[in-house]
Amino acid sequence: MLEIVFLGTGSGIPTRERNHSAIWLHYGEENMLWDCGEGTQRQMLFSGINPMKIDNIFITHWHADHWAGLIGYVQTMNFEGRKRPLYIHGPEAERFVADILDLGHWGPGFKVIAKPVQYEKDEETTIYESEDFIITSIPVKHTVPTVAYCFKERDSWNVDVDGKGKRFGLKEGRMIGNLKKEGFLVIKDRKVTLEDVATVRKGVKAAYSGDTMPCDNVIEISKDSDLMIVDSTFVENIEDRMHGTLEEVIEMGNKANAKNIALTHFSRRYSDHDEIVKEAKKYKTKANVIVAEDMMKLVFRKKGLEIGKVGMKD
Ligand SMILES: [Zn+2]
Repeated sequence: MLEIVFLGTGSGIPTRERNHSAIWLHYGEENMLWDCGEGTQRQMLFSGINPMKIDNIFITHWHADHWAGLIGYVQTMNFEGRKRPLYIHGPEAERFVADILDLGHWGPGFKVIAKPVQYEKDEETTIYESEDFIITSIPVKHTVPTVAYCFKERDSWNVDVDGKGKRFGLKEGRMIGNLKKEGFLVIKDRKVTLEDVATVRKGVKAAYSGDTMPCDNVIEISKDSDLMIVDSTFVENIEDRMHGTLEEVIEMGNKANAKNIALTHFSRRYSDHDEIVKEAKKYKTKANVIVAEDMMKLVFRKKGLEIGKVGMKD
């Protein structure tokens, strides 16, 4: 089950309602962050998320509204006696992580490991993986090296033990584990394959664009996703060299065939949330359009997406 909490949905300048960018992802034992704008650690406290549990932070680019929260956050981890290493991924991560660790009179009692993410080749790259999911990145189009990220749960098999499986003499327990591992089993001299008795359950896919102009790579990394979180700095159609407009963002979502499009990173000029919702409804899309708010929680369950809130706005 993938859980996502928007800890910050504003852009360059925070507002009373919207903090700088940060998105928490939780899957199994893994707690991760996509971006870490100023004040992220406090937003985590409000939302009930334990800041110490995060092991991997993925920074889309090194504009302060996406990383300035790291300075205080790593020092808090140190105060709390952290010993486990912390991994910070991002384009040119080595240079910027070294700079952050060099600020002020302190030194961490744990390892902070920079993991550079490629931003020069136009291709999707796997940058982190576990048994159950992978995280990929792809370069996008901003004024500085910037990448989009994607979480992909691995596909899994649903074995029909009582139906199709019964005909082959399949039983719950170790047999199922071996079948999933090997792809086949031999039961009483008869070979049974996964395809004979199981169907594939597609894993959940959620992508995050980072700050970007409209570009094909955002569409590529968000292809057929359950959720496409996308930079929607400007709601109206204005010329800008750093971000797309709402119309362009929805168009990217349509091309990607995303099931849900979550708009985020709003300029402070849009103080009325309902007004953004109204504007978003003007554009044609098959996707469910979500206007993200700070503390909004998205949970992907087998039966579908649940949208709720955590923390101070409960
Ligand atoms: Zn930004």
